[in-house]
Amino acid sequence: MSDVAPAATLAIPPRCAWCAADLDADARRLAGRTVCGACGVATTTPWPSRRELDEAHAGAYRPQGGRFAGPGDALLRRTRGFLARRIDALAPPGAVLDIGCGDGALLRALAGRGRAGLGLELGADEGRSPRAARSAAIPPRVVEADVEDLDEGWAAIVAWHSLEHLPAPGLALDGAAARLAPRGLLVVAMPNAASVQARVFGDRWLALDPPRHLVHVPAAALCARVRAAGLRVERRSHLRGGQAAFGWLHGLVGALPGTADLYDAVRRPDARKVGQSPGRRAATLAAAGALTPLALAAAGLEAAAGRGGSIYLEARRD
Ligand SMILES: [Zn+2]
Repeated sequence: MSDVAPAATLAIPPRCAWCAADLDADARRLAGRTVCGACGVATTTPWPSRRELDEAHAGAYRPQGGRFAGPGDALLRRTRGFLARRIDALAPPGAVLDIGCGDGALLRALAGRGRAGLGLELGADEGRSPRAARSAAIPPRVVEADVEDLDEGWAAIVAWHSLEHLPAPGLALDGAAARLAPRGLLVVAMPNAASVQARVFGDRWLALDPPRHLVHVPAAALCARVRAAGLRVERRSHLRGGQAAFGWLHGLVGALPGTADLYDAVRRPDARKVGQSPGRRAATLAAAGALTPLALAAAGLEAAAGRGGSIYLEARRD
């Protein structure tokens, strides 16, 4: 990875993982992260080692049988179908690169529309890509590589809730912008560290997700970097990036006594970080049901105020 990424051995990262500025006296120390005085992006502190990251992304994070209980995984596939249709309509002809492609659902949906694609995923070369990706009729091509190592000329490059998992996400974004074909489309979705929910829930905000999320980026910092890379932002949304209402629901349920972690409660048993008794899980899900209208209202209000829980943007190379 890049030499501007914070050193793996230091508990306090010396540099901002987003803009590479020194995290010196101007930096603000918070629980589990340090806010850069230059760009406002927070870098996860302590900075995890590669081994810690591998462990945090393996096992329960993404088990072979799927992550979510009930209709969750099917819903996720369906939303990837919508995204594939949108990318296919907006991008010029050509292949699509999916940075952090997970189980390859977006690439398969794009293949169904006749779009060739390549996925980048941690551990892909070691045969650890999820079963769904390997068993597809035409398995999407998935490799472990940095975007900076690839050739240019992509019709679209997608980073769907993946930049925040990279050790040098700012450089990856610059690299993606530089590798778009003329009129090529960049699609990014990530948590918005400047959202109302981030402020309300503070150190227990769902999208901090340590140690997997290495940076915590305000939407304005993301847009500024995309523009600085020479792209034109065509669309910015606080609803299309997903997770906005769930962030509220997770935080509200977690504030009630006797509840368990909601994110774990909606996952399959083998996809949970911590085991849950049936009674506690039932209480957690019941609380979630009761609080859903409130969470939806809060997510709608913060999005309308331009401070939604996630940021989705489409940007084009002219
Ligand atoms: Zn910075």
